[in-house]
This record gives sequence, C-alpha cells and structure tokens, in this order.
Amino acid sequence: MEIGILFLRKFTSMKNLLILTFMNFFLSHCAQKKIDLTQKPEQQTMENSTHTNNPYYSRTDKTKLNVSNEEWRKILPPEVYAIAREANTEYPFTGKYNDFDELGEYYCAVCGNHLFRSSSKFASSCGWPSFYEADKDGVIYKRDTSHGMERIEVLCKRCDSHLGHVFNDGPPPTGMRFCMNSASLDFEPDSRK
Ligand code: FE
Repeated sequence: MEIGILFLRKFTSMKNLLILTFMNFFLSHCAQKKIDLTQKPEQQTMENSTHTNNPYYSRTDKTKLNVSNEEWRKILPPEVYAIAREANTEYPFTGKYNDFDELGEYYCAVCGNHLFRSSSKFASSCGWPSFYEADKDGVIYKRDTSHGMERIEVLCKRCDSHLGHVFNDGPPPTGMRFCMNSASLDFEPDSRK
C-alpha cells in the first residue's frame, strides 16, 4: 500500500515536471498571449493582402508612420491586427511561412516595409519562420520583459508593428534567430519580378 502511494506520488511529480518542461519550451519560443488563427495555412493565400484597402502600404516609401491602433483596426485583417498591433503570437507550426522556402523578399504585412530576404531564412524547427539576418533599415529592437522573460522584440522600423523576437541561438554567419510571425509578413516571390 505504502509503495503504491509512493509510486503514485512519484508518477504525479514526474507528470508535473513534464508539463512544466513543455510549457517552458513553448514560452521560450516566442510565446506571448496566444490567439487561434482560424485559417489553416493551405487556406491562406501567400500574401496577407492587407494592402488592398490600406493607404499606408508602400514598398518604396520609408517615411515613418504614426497611425493609431484604432485606425489600423479598421484597415487590417483581424489576425494581422492581433499579432502586428497587439503583439499576440500565432500558434507554432501554423503560420503560412513556417514550412516555406520559396525565393523572394519578405515585407511588413502592415506597411510594406522591406524586412527579410529569403536567403537568410533557415529551417529552425521552432515552429515559426526564422531568419538569421534582417534588413538593417527594416527593423528596430525593443527590450521585452513580459511573461517573466527577458527577450528582444523585433518591430517594423516604419510602422512599429510587432514582428516577433530575436534570439542568439541561430546559425552562422550571424548566430541570430529572428523568430517571426507569418501574419506580420508579406512575401513577394522572385518569379514575379
Ligand atoms: Fe511596417
């Protein structure tokens, strides 16, 4: 009987340990408030198409934008707004650019600012599209201490939209891992040039 109780306690503590380990892994890989993206990757188009009715979207204009979230909410699709303007994070392995290796350029889905070139994208297996290098004129960084973690948030330099976080566990040549949300990105394939 006593052995049975001891075994049960041990089993319960191991189970708790496994749950905690899983949660820690999940949080350390970009976790913030999670939202459920109702669209599956195959149902999404390769462009976020946020610029159809977006007067601020431009791939050439580098002028800093100062647009309120109230206005962005009227312009952007809900899933783009939630991530880019309210710093939510899409669920891992759900973003359309996670398992995606076409050649081309990545732009901000909110304002069209250039962010990444596909040649810096790598398979990180973390569940989010990852790059080892960003366009230095495309992004800015901000210290993020939310959720009890010390992280560096990556934002669009032109419109201040949330893109994701950057970590120092990436591959050469930079050793950086820009862990991005697909919803904040807009892809233009080289084939369309
Ligand atoms: Fe932007």
